[in-house]
Amino acid sequence: MKETHPELKRLCIHSITTKPWRISEAVSEYARAGVGGITVWRDAFSELSPAELRRYATDAGLSVVSLCRGGFFAAAETARRRRAIEDNLRAIDEAAALGAPHIVMVCGADPEIPLSESRMHIVEGFQAISDHAAKSGVKLAVEPLHPMYADTRSAINTLGQANDMCDIINEPHIGVAVDVYHLWWDPELESEIARTAQADRLFAFHVCDWRSPTRDMLNDRGLPGDGCIRIPTIREWVERTGFNGFIEVEVFSTEYWSMDQHEFLERIVASYNEHV
Ligand code: ZN
Repeated sequence: MKETHPELKRLCIHSITTKPWRISEAVSEYARAGVGGITVWRDAFSELSPAELRRYATDAGLSVVSLCRGGFFAAAETARRRRAIEDNLRAIDEAAALGAPHIVMVCGADPEIPLSESRMHIVEGFQAISDHAAKSGVKLAVEPLHPMYADTRSAINTLGQANDMCDIINEPHIGVAVDVYHLWWDPELESEIARTAQADRLFAFHVCDWRSPTRDMLNDRGLPGDGCIRIPTIREWVERTGFNGFIEVEVFSTEYWSMDQHEFLERIVASYNEHV
């Protein structure tokens, strides 16, 4: 039998990382590999309902770490903003049924309006769903995205901005997700990670690597060790805050999706053991 890395139980994989697999297959294979947790992307519900998936994962011995993703609050048209809020209320219900402690929030941006206006819509969006999240026992983790996505995906691009926004909203169930892919370049990262500790708001830690050169803005993420991010250093900053939750591997990669996913899963585990 292979030696199990003592920290393997802290490894969580995002279901999109092994996109070619159905969610039931991903759950069984992650569990068989000794992985401790899964973050569920919402497309999974086309196969299993949140409640079914919760049972399925629990029976396999996997923890559901989070639901990915909510947000996309910013929009020039009022009707789109209203639809986004309705969709986020549904996501909260899904997370509660799934047993996911938090939802990863990709806040959104609309290139038709100034970034400052998108940011106002984001704050309004959080305020509109905050009570429902609190009543449902679901936390919301604001994930700042790399500025290359500031046109459409998120007007929140640094951890400093995310911390500032959390201070404005000021609710204990609204915090942040630190994803090394989006934040590794930021000279303020260490101090902003330390700042999360004051409000106990660091809910999630996502890892992958920045390939150099990066061949595609969306679907060319590397596994830890494939690129230039000093992941162990950032992990140390994260753990200095007291964070001892799951370490989530989240990779979107056309190259890795074209591989045999069993072999890819072995590489995920090996890269986690060696480079995180
Ligand atoms: Zn992430």
